[in-house]
Amino acid sequence: MDTIAAIATGGSLSAIGIIRVSGDDAISAVSKLFSDMPDEEKKLAYGKLKSSEGELLDMCMVMYCTKGNSFTGENYAEIQSHGSPVVMREIMDELSKLGVRQAKPGEFTKRAFLNGKVDLVGAEAIVDLIDAETREAAVNAANQLSGTVSKKINAIYDGLADISSHYHAVLDYPDEDIEPFEMKDYLEKLEEYKATLEKLTASFERGRTLSSGIPTAIVGRPNAGKSSLLNALLGYDRAIVTSVPGTTRDTIEEKVRLKGVTLRLIDTAGIRNTPDEIEKLGVERSEKAIENASLVINVIDGTSDEAPLEGDYLNVYNKCDLPGFKGGEINISAVTGEGMDRLEDEICRMFPALDAPSGEILTNIRQVRAAESALDYINAAIDAMEKTPDIVLTELEGAMEAIGELNGRSVREDVTNRIFERFCVGK
Ligand code: GDP
Repeated sequence: MDTIAAIATGGSLSAIGIIRVSGDDAISAVSKLFSDMPDEEKKLAYGKLKSSEGELLDMCMVMYCTKGNSFTGENYAEIQSHGSPVVMREIMDELSKLGVRQAKPGEFTKRAFLNGKVDLVGAEAIVDLIDAETREAAVNAANQLSGTVSKKINAIYDGLADISSHYHAVLDYPDEDIEPFEMKDYLEKLEEYKATLEKLTASFERGRTLSSGIPTAIVGRPNAGKSSLLNALLGYDRAIVTSVPGTTRDTIEEKVRLKGVTLRLIDTAGIRNTPDEIEKLGVERSEKAIENASLVINVIDGTSDEAPLEGDYLNVYNKCDLPGFKGGEINISAVTGEGMDRLEDEICRMFPALDAPSGEILTNIRQVRAAESALDYINAAIDAMEKTPDIVLTELEGAMEAIGELNGRSVREDVTNRIFERFCVGK
């Protein structure tokens, strides 16, 4: 493979900057610029990095790995220079004079994938980890990267391959003395794969809230204390609180991490009809927010006689610090903070941590579609085993292909290219 290089650290000033080089000539090219190469691979050595004219560019640390030991599965070298964009640009220029070209986005990981060093789930987990917006999402991606999903998926793939090779043998050589079909065992296996895939696909919706937070709408009558509650949850004055009704004209979106979950809060203008056009726009948005919300907190002014909302609402009685407060099950004061702990506990109780262990949650729509397709084929295969044995093989092969798309064993090249385009340069 031709040799590629990229600055792996961000383009701004930093203490250290890392340049990665991968390909047949990676080690030889870097050693032309850096004469103090480490004695052994995977070791760092400190020394002078010079231009082709012999001018000192920087004092650097350099590490190299040969094919079998590197992330990309190719000869690989890493230069840790000082993080000046000017210095790093110069080093990149020197590498380019040696025939090393600038890497495209995701090209390192793509090479790792093509060389079998990482499967597709793992590769996508790298992007997810970099893009993670919540702690839960980052932990899940890290576990996916370590192979939790891949192991399950690979086991299904291998199992399906076993069953279909046996089917092939029986179909192709009906006269040979092949041990009779262990139909029941196979059915059991398929049921097991089905259960695993069902669990994985079911994890997706929750996985989504894991990566973006539980979409939460705060509703209630004007002046009930919606903005105050939002502020209390956020811990700082994000929404402007005034005692004039209807000042929250627009929706505001904020993330807040409670004890066990992350909420994506959408403050709303309140549900009510109003002749005011701007206000109306806000109301329409609120309705939309409620539609998209998984958690709707209905704030009630606890000093009023307002009845709680029926249905999937979390009714919260606010202003418990005021005289004449009546209250209900969950009582808070958004102003003093009283009862906020109880409210947090209640929300965490409503959205318990996923029962799927971290790393076994699919968060990627491409992976879910592939898993769903595999599930359809497996269901059809189970059905066929009982009714139409001659088409079992076709269904099994369909399932294998779908699983192969999930882990990258049989993914089409154009799909692969699209996947790696999501990466940043240097990954
Ligand atoms: P919204 O219209 O529902 O967003 O209500 P706001 O959050 O703007 O609050 C309306 C008024 O009620 C403001 O004057 C707040 O200071 C006051 N308020 C909100 N929550 C509490 C509370 O828990 N206790 C007291 N005493 N006042 C509150």
